[in-house]
Amino acid sequence: MELLKRRILEEASVLSADVLKLDRLLNHQVDTALAMEMGREFARRFGGERITKVITIESSGIPIAFATAYTLGVPLVFARRRKTLLAEPDAWTERVPAFTKGIVTDLVVSRHLLSPDDTLLYIDDIIANGDAARGLIRIIGQSGAKLAGVGIAVEKTFQSGGRLLRERGIRVESLVRIASLADGKIAFE
Ligand code: 5GP
Repeated sequence: MELLKRRILEEASVLSADVLKLDRLLNHQVDTALAMEMGREFARRFGGERITKVITIESSGIPIAFATAYTLGVPLVFARRRKTLLAEPDAWTERVPAFTKGIVTDLVVSRHLLSPDDTLLYIDDIIANGDAARGLIRIIGQSGAKLAGVGIAVEKTFQSGGRLLRERGIRVESLVRIASLADGKIAFE
């Protein structure tokens, strides 16, 4: 998606060789017009899949997932991230490392929000090692819902998350692919 590439070059910064800072576009301030544009692009790519719900993880996935769900005319469910040790009997819970926070959190989705009748599209902002995605996909598996695919705004292809999902046969669509953040430079594929 050329528009997103251009906006990343203009407004993102490289925090380290691993981490891209997108605070002006997605992760703190949200460019709502850009988020809507990304939502329309994901809706176009997955439009033939009879999606019944879009699912994401709070908080940074929500704007793009909202835009996608709105365009498709379906509800949005977001997994909550909690730092709790309490089991929740009415929820599916998976423990995952949080890439940028250096901590482990639980992803939590109430059981009544997903069912085997659902066909889900999982949308997220960035994929790195794929821990968040694998956790959410385990929850989707427990619910019995079908996963139609994964839409990611920014895939860092020098980390393994996207590749590992594709190797499992999951359809992964990313809007931009970053091959390297070395030497403070953003190199697209
Ligand atoms: P993963 O679980 O794939 O390793 O990391 C995914 C999550 O960590 C993303 O949803 C995102 O919130 C955060 N994340 C991973 N890499 C980056 C990055 O380079 N920049 C920012 N801002 N967040 C990231």
